[in-house]
Amino acid sequence: MDNGFNYQLSITHYPLSTGGLLVKPISSNWHNLLFDLFLPAFCHTCQKGLKAGDGNYFCSGCWAEIVLLDKFCSRCGYPSFKASPPAHCHKCPTEKIGFRYARSVGIYAGIMSQAIHLFKYKNKIGMGSQLAGLLITHYARYWEFWNYDYIVPVPLHPRRLRQREFNQSFILASELGNYFQTPVLADNLQRIKFNRPQVELNQQERLNNLKGGFDLTQPQVIKGKNILLIDDVYTTGATVTECAQIAATAGANVVDIYTLARTL
Ligand SMILES: [Zn+2]
Ligand SMILES: [Zn+2]
Repeated sequence: MDNGFNYQLSITHYPLSTGGLLVKPISSNWHNLLFDLFLPAFCHTCQKGLKAGDGNYFCSGCWAEIVLLDKFCSRCGYPSFKASPPAHCHKCPTEKIGFRYARSVGIYAGIMSQAIHLFKYKNKIGMGSQLAGLLITHYARYWEFWNYDYIVPVPLHPRRLRQREFNQSFILASELGNYFQTPVLADNLQRIKFNRPQVELNQQERLNNLKGGFDLTQPQVIKGKNILLIDDVYTTGATVTECAQIAATAGANVVDIYTLARTL
């Protein structure tokens, strides 16, 4: 299956917006840039020297090992190993579901988790284009048409944005928006509560942690529109479900969720 490895993207800068602003575009990333520019590049996994045709961080052999999702719950996208995946599964959110379908490119493991980790926590922003290439290449596996009025990245709280300097979901959404010529609503959906990191919490705590955590500054913009919500990883679904619910309450016509990876 094509894993989008050779997909070339053209975005070289990101528009200024509080939703995904690279607060200090170079700043603490400068040493990363210097390393990337002047040191010979090796695959982060197998340590082989990268060649023409490889990505910036992984060789094409390792990148091809990303485990793609092929069978899944038709509602929430949870991986299924059954011949005929269910219409609803035990992982489907039990509360009011604001979205129509949730889909992910692959399983959050191996190369996929390494790539997302480099992107998110090691300031390898260039990884974003390659990961967005996966979203673009695999979109057609899940949806027949592109039918969205807006792409909405899951926002970071401003405090978290200052710490990380960029919103990984915004970068993915921007690449998608550029490719599909669809506006990215970066400032409408806002995270208004500074939550404890979701990774520290169990599923019930995650849901409570996020309650009232998001708001739309201009809900009327969403009304009657088809929305594609973008995030990097779908874990319990607590975050994206909360965002989808807010968009649905504001009168969105359709809300679909699309993430790079899905945890097992
Ligand atoms: Zn490799
Ligand atoms: Zn499900």
